[in-house]
Amino acid sequence: MKRIIIIGGGPAGLMAATQLLKSDCEILLLDQKASVGRKFLVAGDGGFNLTHSESKTELLEKYDSVWIKQAIRKFSNKDFIQFLNRIGIETKVGSSGKIFPEDEIKPIQVLNAWKQHLEPKVQFRLNCRLVNFSETAIEVEENGKTGQIPFDCLVLALGAKSWPVTGSDGVWTTLFEEKGIQINPFRASNSGLELYDNWLGDLEGKILKNVVLSCGDQRCAGDVVCTSYGLEGKPAYAINRALSKMEKPVFKIDFKPQMTQQRVVEILKKAKNPSQGLKELKLGEVAVFWIKNFVSKARFTDPKELAKAIKEFAVGIKGFRPLEEVISCAGGVADSEISESGELNRFPNVFVAGEMIDWDAPTGGYLIQGCVSSGYVAGKSIARAFDSVQSPQ
Ligand SMILES: Cc1cc2nc3c(=O)[nH]c(=O)nc-3n(C[C@H](O)[C@H](O)[C@H](O)COP(=O)(O)OP(=O)(O)OC[C@H]3O[C@@H](n4cnc5c(N)ncnc54)[C@H](O)[C@@H]3O)c2cc1C
Repeated sequence: MKRIIIIGGGPAGLMAATQLLKSDCEILLLDQKASVGRKFLVAGDGGFNLTHSESKTELLEKYDSVWIKQAIRKFSNKDFIQFLNRIGIETKVGSSGKIFPEDEIKPIQVLNAWKQHLEPKVQFRLNCRLVNFSETAIEVEENGKTGQIPFDCLVLALGAKSWPVTGSDGVWTTLFEEKGIQINPFRASNSGLELYDNWLGDLEGKILKNVVLSCGDQRCAGDVVCTSYGLEGKPAYAINRALSKMEKPVFKIDFKPQMTQQRVVEILKKAKNPSQGLKELKLGEVAVFWIKNFVSKARFTDPKELAKAIKEFAVGIKGFRPLEEVISCAGGVADSEISESGELNRFPNVFVAGEMIDWDAPTGGYLIQGCVSSGYVAGKSIARAFDSVQSPQ
């Protein structure tokens, strides 16, 4: 019987295994941690966005690489929702279109349902670390010993580098580089923004409510939280990609997105002084602190200029949070190294899937969706190849 080894029990590896359930083969799923899906559960801690409900066209726009888009076309948000429903996980659409498990379903229940779906056929081998691979066998470290396991097909779904405590430590990049496989350096994505010290004031814990952050062609509305080092929140994450392309990264905040600039000018003109104008506009503490500290006196006292500052307030950033702390990483295996199904050009029968491939997307379910779509294309491709050999037409 053919043997398929999958390494990495995150959503990408679990989905690759799922696609092989009906094939006549032995499936081993290995992970270096004592349990699978640790980052999946971390994602569950802060609002568990499994995917997004938008149309395929809108969904595809959220991804930056041609490779991941073709994988999502083959296994879309609708396919993932159907799969979840099939294993007994009912989903609901949140107010912003994100897909969550139904209220009473906890993240661990989603993971357990998925594991139970796999368990009759898939052998889980935990605390087992991949240290090397060839075209026909892997070398693993287990209980302090190393050993070889031969395979017919191998899927590597080793994750990226954030939250290494969950097992995605990025150590595999050295192994790949030694084999001549191009790895694009990991970059923080969906990261908090670090601001220069003079911008921090006494603002920790304060919230910029209902603002719009923009940079280049990226723009996102919502609330942003001030921290000891800068800003966190969906609008801050959503502009990461544009900021990372700038030599001196600067973004803009619209403190009053629900009002036109002309209306802001009118209110400022009617007020007895600029400070009173800011009060009448009901700007929050953070906006007022920044405007008063960083807008020149000449602009502050000119209603048109002040209105422009309120609508297009420029903020320079010092950088992103350390990779270990961010939600996801851009970078990883270059798509020039793989086929559409994720098979490595240099290692036939060895596939990669998930966040270890160089693609990027915002939070909001798009990351897990990208991982399961890439796991699907790897698993499906192996299943089709096996099935066509076993039952030739
Ligand atoms: C705080 C936080 C919140 C998030 N929230 C969301 C969200 O709401 N929605 C969303 O879509 N995404 C979210 N994400 C991102 C999402 O969790 C990841 O994109 C996803 O888990 C990546 O899946 P993966 O299968 O590629 O890899 P991972 O889930 O990282 O799994 C990789 C696995 O490979 C194993 N492994 C690595 N190296 C080896 C080795 N050498 N030998 C054996 N095993 C190895 C690891 O132990 C790990 O289990 C969040 C992430 C974080 C950190």
